[in-house]
Amino acid sequence: MAEIIVMKAVNAENELHAQKVRELVDHFGVLLINLLSSPGSGKTTLLEATLREWRGKFRMGAIEGDLFTDEDARRLERFGIQVVQLNTQGSCHLTANMIEKALEKLDLKALDFLFIENVGNLVCPASFNLGEHKRVTLLSVTEGQDKIKKYPKAFFTADLLLVSKIDLLHLTEVKLENLKEDFFRVNPKGGFLPLSAKTGDGMPQWLGFLEAWKKELL
Ligand code: MG
Ligand code: ZN
Repeated sequence: MAEIIVMKAVNAENELHAQKVRELVDHFGVLLINLLSSPGSGKTTLLEATLREWRGKFRMGAIEGDLFTDEDARRLERFGIQVVQLNTQGSCHLTANMIEKALEKLDLKALDFLFIENVGNLVCPASFNLGEHKRVTLLSVTEGQDKIKKYPKAFFTADLLLVSKIDLLHLTEVKLENLKEDFFRVNPKGGFLPLSAKTGDGMPQWLGFLEAWKKELL
């Protein structure tokens, strides 16, 4: 009983911060994307590929959530973009309060897109609204067939599922058709896109989603 009450209070506070985050990014017309996945499914690699494709076309920034390190932030900084590193000191998810603080470090009027790379974890990040406009969950084909059934919240709260590393599909037992079926069972309205940041397969469609969402916002 007590545990349930605590969770509610935490979530109510998180919602207030999420609202503030949303107001800020809306004010500056910045599309805010929350990237969720387990560790190693390719969030940073996807961001690198996106930055490479859109260099000079759109102004992008990133908030990097990590337990302790700043390696991912360094990888993105090489592109000369605005990056804020959030070290959660061991906490396994980001909260809207952390995002609100990160926004203070960013020049929002100089951004079109802002990506949040959440802590690699398919469980609790799904329960925290960060004020994002869109939530994108990544699932790499090397993670196997069962993750959607095991961690449904990360999938039914997503606006888009990116099935990553499809260049490795032939080395796995995974069938895209089965993943698609599992996904649409929990999230009939979500987008489903197989992608390889390495070969570029699916990248035009991914950029298409981003541009369409950005137009929705304006
Ligand atoms: Mg990463
Ligand atoms: Zn957590």
